[in-house]
Amino acid sequence: MTARSAGASASGDRMAPQVGKRSERKRQLVPLPVRPSGQKPRESRRWRWRLLVLIGVHVAIALHIWHWYAKGRTLSPVEPSESMQTLEFGYVNAGFILFCFAILATLILGRFFCGWACHIVALQDVCGWVLRKLGLRPKPFRSRLLVWVPVVTALYMFVWPQVVRITEGRPFPRLANHLMTDDLWATFPTVGVGLLTFFVCGFLIVMLLGNKGFCTYGCPYGAFFYHADRFAVGKIRVTDACQGCGHCTATCTSNVRVHEEVRKYGMVVDAGCMKCMDCVDVCPNGALYWGIGKPSLGSKARADRVRPRPKYDFTLQEELVLGLLVIACFYAFYRLYDAVPLLLAVGLAVTTAYVIFVLAGLIYRRNVRILRVQAKRNGRLTGPGAFAAAFGVGLAWLVGYFVALQWHVKEGLYMLSQVQSLRASAPPEEWEPAAREALDHLRWASERTPFIVADWEFNIGSLLLALGKPGEALEHLYTAQKFTADRADSYLAIGDAELASMSAEKAEAAYRQAVRLAPTSVGARIKLSGALATQNKLDEAIREFREAIRLGAHDPNDRSNFAFLLLRAGQRDEAIDVMRTVVKDAPNDARARFNFGMMLMDAGRSDEGLDEIEAGLSLDPALPGGRAAFLLRALDAGRAERAFLAGERWREERPFDHEILHAWATAAKVTGRLDRLCQELARRPAADTASWYALAFLYVERGERAAADSIYSVLLKRNPNLTRP
Ligand code: SF4
Ligand code: SF4
Repeated sequence: MTARSAGASASGDRMAPQVGKRSERKRQLVPLPVRPSGQKPRESRRWRWRLLVLIGVHVAIALHIWHWYAKGRTLSPVEPSESMQTLEFGYVNAGFILFCFAILATLILGRFFCGWACHIVALQDVCGWVLRKLGLRPKPFRSRLLVWVPVVTALYMFVWPQVVRITEGRPFPRLANHLMTDDLWATFPTVGVGLLTFFVCGFLIVMLLGNKGFCTYGCPYGAFFYHADRFAVGKIRVTDACQGCGHCTATCTSNVRVHEEVRKYGMVVDAGCMKCMDCVDVCPNGALYWGIGKPSLGSKARADRVRPRPKYDFTLQEELVLGLLVIACFYAFYRLYDAVPLLLAVGLAVTTAYVIFVLAGLIYRRNVRILRVQAKRNGRLTGPGAFAAAFGVGLAWLVGYFVALQWHVKEGLYMLSQVQSLRASAPPEEWEPAAREALDHLRWASERTPFIVADWEFNIGSLLLALGKPGEALEHLYTAQKFTADRADSYLAIGDAELASMSAEKAEAAYRQAVRLAPTSVGARIKLSGALATQNKLDEAIREFREAIRLGAHDPNDRSNFAFLLLRAGQRDEAIDVMRTVVKDAPNDARARFNFGMMLMDAGRSDEGLDEIEAGLSLDPALPGGRAAFLLRALDAGRAERAFLAGERWREERPFDHEILHAWATAAKVTGRLDRLCQELARRPAADTASWYALAFLYVERGERAAADSIYSVLLKRNPNLTRP
């Protein structure tokens, strides 16, 4: 029997169901291959050095946080997870540099970083030490499928966003220096969530899955280091002095079968080895050392040495079920209540799925032992077994509830994103069904959650506002704001809802709060300006808008609004100047050119104004009411000939647009074409509905209302949507 397999089955510390044999229940020393029975493995003294280094790492982390508190600006987080910011936004930060350096060092020297610098490893080692002091020896869980969890997580974190970027055709962002930061905590979870992450990934997972359980079954960075180590030339190697006693294997907290590996390969090839050097220290024959040589990738076993087939705790079929459970649990936990970050979700998914799976053994196994306690004997549940079964049912129900909750939230957020992308350009009937659906999903989740989730309340409030229910929206937005008092967008939404409820004063107060929280926000200042203008506080409104422009309000729509604000305040010349720059900067912006034209018309510059309006209409013929407005303004300005010619053109394009027909008929009258056109159209075939409809408008202009109505009553039978001339 090997040290590992013997130790595993004898300890019984893990939750895995075991047949309860009396002899196995006795606590035994780990029998090593050739070590005389009862001889304890030697204690490593090297761990003290590692402990000192890991304490140093934590002191450095504390100093980093203190420096940020004291100075308000410090080095960006020295965390590998920050590399995601580099890939997503091009930020070159301390975490990215550390990660690159650590991978490079691992590629050459081996996986030292994990064992000597990772704070989660420190927590796992502390947990293992505490359990050993309690007389418990966590048995390593051996799985063939779950070892892929770190790889899949790493791909999801680092590769998947790049795939999305490439498929969306977005270029890689320009690299920017982010070595220093004002907000050290910007990418970190709350302290409570952080502590829970440490508990789950540093303690719970060790208790359930054995030493380095998180490194083996959860850590995405470990996936990089694991595979980098296989290329490394730095390895734990062996001399001929090895007697195969197994002290090394018994000491290793990374679950490496050291004595087997060095016997077969002459070195430790298992990339789970974190180069803690404990095995080197405890070897009674001084046979182990860290040294340079061939990498383990592709290394061949010595011809005469046969390694036993790896032993796994579950069959492949069982592992497939466990794998599906892990996926379901990950879905249930990741971003649950907008609070569970990725690493915590992975830790929770692996541990919860494992516990449910093991407890499910109570259903179909005759004998089950859990944590050294007999839970089922000869097909009957014991007292503790009944308690464990109830716990398992409760846990499974909770996961099911979280899955349903997450599905509703994800559906709701997806529909909300659809609404947000459609709202700017599509009429309400196109996005309102999606908004109502999003509202139903988010309300389902909110009503079944015993506490307030601020983001859900905010989204529900925003949807109600979009659906024209500002009163109801305000209830949710104010609820959300209690938990997000430091978020400007929370106040902006409240301001929008107050404005829609005709409470311009309250809207102004909310927008002012948003400006206070985000003084460089262009949107907040523009909204504040709008609320001030609504109350006729035009000078203040103009001041806020000027500040928004200084901060970078370049959107043509925004600057057009500023021009109209100036116009309202009687500052026509500046308004025209502003619009002129807008049109110059955005010559293809139909609305801007149209508005500029209208402004010029108001200023009495008719021809220039009509040119701009016509340019806007040629860019976007569908500008609401645009063509009719052009015709009427042209008539008002005494440009009847121009109005008639444009009306004639547009009448053919839109023969049933009553606004165009009305203005065209007026222009025909002013230009003296009325009688000729009447005669011409009256000769058209009776089936030519468009011509006869136009003729009705001409009759109205000639004062022949009865004739117009008689034509209209005939045409109405053919097309009930026609408007009376
Ligand atoms: S390397 Fe040392 S501790 Fe390990 S089996 Fe050989 S002699 Fe024993
Ligand atoms: S094999 Fe040796 S160096 Fe590697 S983790 Fe185990 S005890 Fe540490």
